[in-house]
Amino acid sequence: MKRRDLLALVACVSLGLSSGAAADPALMSKPMSLTEMVDPSIPPCQDFFQYVCKNWQASNPIPDDQSRWGQFYVLREANLAKLRGLLEEAGSDASSDAKRVGDFYAACMDEAGIEAKGLAPIKPLLEKIETVTDKRALPSLLATLHRSAIAGFFSFGSARDPVDSDRNIAGVDQGGLGLPDRDFYFRKDEKAARQRDAYVAHIGHMFALTGEDPISAGQRAKAVMALETAMAEVSLDRVARRDPQKVNKPMPFAQFVAEAPGVDWDGYVKALEAPAFDRINDQSADYLLKIGGIIEAAPLDDVKSYLEWHVLHASARLLPKAFVDENFDFYGRVLAGTPSLQPRWKRCVQMTDHALGEDLGRLFVEKYYPPAAKTRMEDLVTAVHASFGRLIASVDWMVPATKAKAEAKLALMVSKIGYPAKWRDYATVVVSRDDALGNLWRASAFEVTRDLNKIGDVVDRSEWGMTPPTVNAYYESENNDINFPAGILQFPFFDKDSDDALNFGAIGMVIGHEMTHGFDDAGRQYDGKGNLVDWWTKADADKFAAKSQCLVDEYGAFVADGDVTLNGKLTLGENTADNGGARIAYGALQKYLAGKKVGKIEGWTPEQRFFLGMARVWCGSERPETRRLQAQTDPHALAQYRVNGVVSNMPEFARAFSCKAGDAMVRKNACKVW
Ligand SMILES: [Zn+2]
Repeated sequence: MKRRDLLALVACVSLGLSSGAAADPALMSKPMSLTEMVDPSIPPCQDFFQYVCKNWQASNPIPDDQSRWGQFYVLREANLAKLRGLLEEAGSDASSDAKRVGDFYAACMDEAGIEAKGLAPIKPLLEKIETVTDKRALPSLLATLHRSAIAGFFSFGSARDPVDSDRNIAGVDQGGLGLPDRDFYFRKDEKAARQRDAYVAHIGHMFALTGEDPISAGQRAKAVMALETAMAEVSLDRVARRDPQKVNKPMPFAQFVAEAPGVDWDGYVKALEAPAFDRINDQSADYLLKIGGIIEAAPLDDVKSYLEWHVLHASARLLPKAFVDENFDFYGRVLAGTPSLQPRWKRCVQMTDHALGEDLGRLFVEKYYPPAAKTRMEDLVTAVHASFGRLIASVDWMVPATKAKAEAKLALMVSKIGYPAKWRDYATVVVSRDDALGNLWRASAFEVTRDLNKIGDVVDRSEWGMTPPTVNAYYESENNDINFPAGILQFPFFDKDSDDALNFGAIGMVIGHEMTHGFDDAGRQYDGKGNLVDWWTKADADKFAAKSQCLVDEYGAFVADGDVTLNGKLTLGENTADNGGARIAYGALQKYLAGKKVGKIEGWTPEQRFFLGMARVWCGSERPETRRLQAQTDPHALAQYRVNGVVSNMPEFARAFSCKAGDAMVRKNACKVW
């Protein structure tokens, strides 16, 4: 699994968590102006987030089919509606190149057809598991499941060679838990215990829906939970997963096989039809060294129950309604607190985007992405890049040698804007209008094969890790590149008609955020080519760690819900990027304004409008369950802290709004990494 530093976690399709947009067309009406948004009764120096966002929150309550709501989601809503239009058009044109996505979507929408088929689409797989009588058959069975992107015990695919970033090798990682994170299996609080009970009940209900008697289904669910708990025990937690040293251990394949007993790795790789390879990256410390022992110790029947559960889990969204509802009940209602399931079209648009994203993305870009947006965006990236260069040159805590290496890394950073230079060709994926689940599996198999074929190959750095309509952005350490899909290059992030101060505060901050990831606690461990190489002196690394600790302490004290606070370590990289990104974008604005006479607009100075533009993109709110879930699993801070945490660290903000020492938005121990 690849780690990418995103701007925000806005969807979790694999867990079926609610994401996306509301059906109410009123929510897609004209956006509020800044004047309409700002609440003058709240002093900006006391709570800037509320000052900018309170009115927006009041007129934009969380829709019933959402776990959270905000500007991000409104934009996603608009994009989903556009994609729906494209998919419906594509479906009616049998001759067009777009037929594949149109058929995929139409099959997903065919609820009656799916209902009529019942369990037939998964019967062959369930029978395959059922007929296993010997654990020696497991490697081949796991390969079959993994080819359809069904989870089980571990994941396998291509991975970057951490010391030769131009080369892809094989990679193997932890995987196969049904709860969102290993800690969910062990947390001691009462809510966590209730979630675990609900999870076991959910697995039992899924078994029972296949026709099994509820008592035996319940017993088997408990066995699955016991097996997953044993796996969770040896899994890395989310904080450890952010540490490049803990998720990169390249070695000869023969050595890995010797160190990781209990799994017939050769048999597995052969059954998977992976290309021959001799080097592998062990991406989960000692999980893989222990998983074989866990499988050996478990009764065969429990292993079979576990795999059956994951077949049901991975298929639920495209099975009859009873499965869809049961899946939503646990992952949507219990875990995220979402009252109702999204309309089917939204789920199907997202599944199509997930399965055949560049086919659909090509249609999206052709219709909705004007070339002028790309040019303007390139100018903004250049301005923010130059500002970061000036900031690195100005810091007083690095010795010249480290500084020169930081500058060299920044100079090598590449930006990708909008969409890929060459589109993925899905011609070999067979899509049928009456086989929704089969389509999903064939699209998954295509992706798995495409990924496996990279093993041993030179890296193609032009590839994208997000589809073009995605409202998000990311930095990838192994490429040292920043990526901005067409989907985010729209209001309120980017508006070609608004003043530059607003754009620098919004999309400029996003650009700075992604650039800073190259220099956060994880990103700084990679060089400009994307190799995991330590280019820091010990003294500079220590100073960096001390500056980072300030952010760990600051954000670790922010309350998410009741007794749950943010995890300062888990969110450190994102908070470093939020703070650095704002400062770098602000520097770019200052440079842009130098020597120009730019007056107030709507009563605000350009500096004030920068911060208003920044805060505005984070306006939104979350359900209490989702605030807990986010604090426990998401490396991003909650939106209110992405605003107030940042501005309270910035003297530039205090100057812009004339805040005084002692105001809530003026932190005594202001943190500054970049
Ligand atoms: Zn980020």
